[in-house]
Amino acid sequence: MKVLVINCGSSSLKYQLIDSVTEEMEAKGLCERIGIDGRLTHQTTGKDKYVVESPMPDHKAAMKLVMEALLDADHGVIGSTDEIGAIGHRVLHGGPTLTTPMLVDQHVKDVIRDCFDLGPLHNPANLMGIEACEDAMPGKPNVVVFDTTFGMAMEEKAYLYAIPYEYYEKYGVRRYGFHGTSHMFVSREAIKFGGLKPDAKVIVCHLGNGASISASIGGKCVDTSMGLTPLEGLIMGTRSGDVDPAVVQYICNKEHRDVNDVLNILNKKSGMLGMSGVSSDFRDVEAARQEGSHRSEVALEAFRYRVAKYIGAYTAAMNGVDAIAFTAGVGENDKNARKLICDYLGYLGVVIDDEANNVRGKNAVISAPESKVKVMLIPTNEELAIARETVALAQ
Ligand code: AMP
Repeated sequence: MKVLVINCGSSSLKYQLIDSVTEEMEAKGLCERIGIDGRLTHQTTGKDKYVVESPMPDHKAAMKLVMEALLDADHGVIGSTDEIGAIGHRVLHGGPTLTTPMLVDQHVKDVIRDCFDLGPLHNPANLMGIEACEDAMPGKPNVVVFDTTFGMAMEEKAYLYAIPYEYYEKYGVRRYGFHGTSHMFVSREAIKFGGLKPDAKVIVCHLGNGASISASIGGKCVDTSMGLTPLEGLIMGTRSGDVDPAVVQYICNKEHRDVNDVLNILNKKSGMLGMSGVSSDFRDVEAARQEGSHRSEVALEAFRYRVAKYIGAYTAAMNGVDAIAFTAGVGENDKNARKLICDYLGYLGVVIDDEANNVRGKNAVISAPESKVKVMLIPTNEELAIARETVALAQ
């Protein structure tokens, strides 16, 4: 079966067509500037990129162009939409009730809408993507895979905030965790690739522009660093991660701003960008460090220090760790970051093999044979994980 995987943002629509038997990607593309003007970049595997500049007033118009690109005689990959067996959608927030991947029906769409205030940037776009696909391919099964699913396995002691219980009961205020599809994929892949026992204790470090870390046993989440929203946890490109909530009130008072302004600052102007004053991109911050920027050096050190602290906490939470897996932009490409984070972990008996660590973007064991914990690089593949879940439900 061919599965079309869709990932919608507020003004973008990313897609991949995946053959579920070979698990190969057959085509991929991106619609940008939806609602502004519109550009589609499409690539069928093995062929040149194909760019269409065309008005895209909404996600439905974008989806129509995606179907035309997939069916195009020269640049496309399918002869008819009948070849697409199902569509899988990445959805940010399933709230407290949608805890597993689901076949889309009216109830599922209603709950995604009910969660708009939990995922104000993503859930409305995700729903538009689903409705655009229902329009473009009536009758095909649509499956939603939530970024929150993995974290829903956490126990109460890990997911409850120590605030009045009524806010959990009334509004679902709890820790959900995000990047769940990535953590699920990488933790399972680490067990398989690392030849670990099925109930292995694995810590996954998803280190990219958005960054999060998870602890899981046998692929089941014990804890993960993001919370009610993707703001909690590690230092990220523009997000602060953990801060004392009193910081919000203090800045509000000092700068005469309201809570929404300060939350916007914590989401969009903090993290590596705020600390370094240079950029949210780790490569730019590293370049500035090499030119002598002290703030950039501290930002990079603080990022690694926080990852190492969480690894320690998660090792305690699981009473041990069998493997640590690095993934996402920094985790897959930056050997120095991996090495410097692991330098904190001597007490766990972690030993990195510098030669093995000189690797990018492919499954690899980067620890030395004598290391007490297996350290791995496992590239994430959220689209493939969504395609697998979609096939399981659509068949
Ligand atoms: P992601 O959000 O997973 O796409 O990751 C994006 C981040 O990965 C950006 O901040 C990049 O600077 C960072 N990144 C990508 N390649 C490298 C590299 N070779 N060294 C350091 N950081 C990298």
